[in-house]
Amino acid sequence: MNAPPIDVADAFGVYVHVPFCAHRCDYCAFATYSDRDHLQDAYVEAVRQEIRWAVDGGLRVATSIFFGGGTPSRLTPEQLLSILREIPRTADCEITVECNPEDASVERLTAYRDGGVTRMSYGVQSTQPAVLADLGRRHGTMAHREVAERTHEVGFASWNMDLIVGSRAESLDDVRATLHDLLSLEHRPPHISCYALTPEPATPLGQDPARHPDEDETADAYDIVGQTLESHGYLWEEISNWAEPGHECRHNHVYWDHGNYQGFGSAAHSHVDGRRFWNVRTPDRYIAMVEGGTSPLGGEEYLDAATQAFERDSLALRTRRGVPREAFDSLDEIAHLVTVRDNRVSLNPAARLVANQVILRLKSTP
Ligand code: SF4
Repeated sequence: MNAPPIDVADAFGVYVHVPFCAHRCDYCAFATYSDRDHLQDAYVEAVRQEIRWAVDGGLRVATSIFFGGGTPSRLTPEQLLSILREIPRTADCEITVECNPEDASVERLTAYRDGGVTRMSYGVQSTQPAVLADLGRRHGTMAHREVAERTHEVGFASWNMDLIVGSRAESLDDVRATLHDLLSLEHRPPHISCYALTPEPATPLGQDPARHPDEDETADAYDIVGQTLESHGYLWEEISNWAEPGHECRHNHVYWDHGNYQGFGSAAHSHVDGRRFWNVRTPDRYIAMVEGGTSPLGGEEYLDAATQAFERDSLALRTRRGVPREAFDSLDEIAHLVTVRDNRVSLNPAARLVANQVILRLKSTP
């Protein structure tokens, strides 16, 4: 089992951004770099310093911590754990580390476990060679099997595999084959995320229209993923996430419930009590500012009550729990897209990819 869910009012998430990758995947627009590994020692020290400043300023005790990126497993386990040790946390805190499949050695996973990490997340994306090649992923087609065996051997009770659908190299049979490969594992992932490939403008994929996903094919692939996972005992959690009962990701829920979280490291975003703020984007600048004794704050904004209400409702509508019936004036025009149960409105499976049409009808939509 994973750390049990908690009420959003009691939750506080901490996110740590690790902006290093072995190479740049050509669809990725994240704030991450493949030519800055020489900064890693200084970056780790800067993040530790930023956290210490926050602790001195009254940082709340974390109920979940998430190391994302980038590729957190580019850091040595000791570097990553030295950051973790700076963060005040509850005894049952969920602590997730994103990891490239090729980095998931038994030694690394054991070090994470011994250092307090409770949950792993692996970017598997697909098990089909043509799809992995098109996405520019370097791990082999058996990586999912090796990762599952090692994760089980080391003893993580909860973990996730990420999939991506929408590559032009991917047929619907490839999607089915990937799902079959994951679901037939002796130790299958208790949590699976599936994201639609998005052609971000500043990426090589975005600049090559011939490689842009076909929207109808991607929708069909998404439907196959949802139907297959839900018929194999996974509960739909949110547009892109499914979990076996007891394996919901506590940290994800902080975001989806419009809760409070604080991010550390370059480009990390935070939301605390209606104030949204974010750090400068590049690790070079981030390190220079922290080493110079300056806050690495890149910007901030205060959300008014109306914006907070809209963000809360639109995020909640994307989850299984949905929103209170009172969040809508009328359901007449969207009756075919939603289900009302216990006075809450949630998306029908066929409506998950057109959630924005439903969000437009929320009373809180500006
Ligand atoms: S490994 Fe992940 S974060 Fe790094 S470039 Fe590829 S998709 Fe982006």
